[in-house]
Amino acid sequence: MITTDKYPLLEINLNKIYENAKIIVEKCKENRITVSGIIKGVNGEERVAKELVRAGCTYIASSRLEQLKELREKGYKIDTMLIRIPMRSELEELVQYADISLNSEGRTIQLIEDACCKYNKQHGVVLMYDVGDLREGFIDEKELIDQALYIENNLKHVKLMGIGTNLSCYGSIKPTHENLKQVTILADTIRELIGRRLEIVSGGGTTSLPLLFNGEMPDGISNLRIGEAMLLNRDLPDLWGTQIPGMHNDTFVLKAQIIEIKDKPTYPIGEMYLNTSGNKPVYEDRGIRKRALLAIGKQDFVHQDNLIPLDENIELVGSSSDHTIIDIENCKNGYKVGDIVQFYMYYSPMLYLCNSKWVKKKYI
Ligand SMILES: *Cc1c(COP(=O)(O)O)cnc(C)c1O
Repeated sequence: MITTDKYPLLEINLNKIYENAKIIVEKCKENRITVSGIIKGVNGEERVAKELVRAGCTYIASSRLEQLKELREKGYKIDTMLIRIPMRSELEELVQYADISLNSEGRTIQLIEDACCKYNKQHGVVLMYDVGDLREGFIDEKELIDQALYIENNLKHVKLMGIGTNLSCYGSIKPTHENLKQVTILADTIRELIGRRLEIVSGGGTTSLPLLFNGEMPDGISNLRIGEAMLLNRDLPDLWGTQIPGMHNDTFVLKAQIIEIKDKPTYPIGEMYLNTSGNKPVYEDRGIRKRALLAIGKQDFVHQDNLIPLDENIELVGSSSDHTIIDIENCKNGYKVGDIVQFYMYYSPMLYLCNSKWVKKKYI
């Protein structure tokens, strides 16, 4: 049978993303927390951004300024937030297309002020405080406070919107009541020095949600930057032991087509040297087994291990740039060449699949 659908295909369920976002936004609202909806994982896709806005996110945010620019040019009125420290080479675009950015360098902030003057713009700055994960942010509290005071007292176009922190990225440091409390204490110190409340005290991303749902989020955290939990909802239930009622984890489905099925030995035949990655993998001899070949590969998803077959009897055996080998020996559905195999996924394949021009997208 010849089918008309084209593969590989990534199906994206917008309504389920909306419902996930709604649950998170409402929970945050109960705790006086605004949500920045992060769109970097879906290549800034407008249709996804629209759902996050509809669900009540206060800001739309990305680490890639181009994605925010695209939304602005399409007429989106929502406030935009750049969540990667801006490059010196993008400050003119920054003040035109982002309302807020996360920052940690005084000289860069000064140059943002200059760019604001040139384009007659206002720009909000959130100063990042590194409480231990060791990626971005001031590690020295005093330095952060001095920078906050400098912005407050000397800059006309750059506004001090608040402070924030980032966790579970480089250092694998878990968000806890203690390390987020440190951020709120610093926010209180700054509030007393400047005589007004900071609008944003941003307490991290998806991995800070377990604290919120367990009732351990310190008072004073007023913003979270959420991507994964709303888009995929895989990390919290599978890795963080946090099952949020009503949340979907079937928002993204990858569909790939079988191009070959053969009973093959499991141990390669001949003199073993290197695979396509230049590595020497270890192979286990399991005798002859039924193997299927799929027309999709590392070029599309990069990390095979982060794919989750819907058919639990499928074993992912290996992949190269354009091929994926699966073991279907234990499968009960009698796969044939031309059949479609489906996968859920973790964050990194979602990111790569969304970015691939070779993967078709279908929005539901
Ligand atoms: C990507 C990112 C986030 C969002 O992370 P999720 O795990 O997708 O919620 C938040 N803050 C910063 C600085 C980021 O780079």
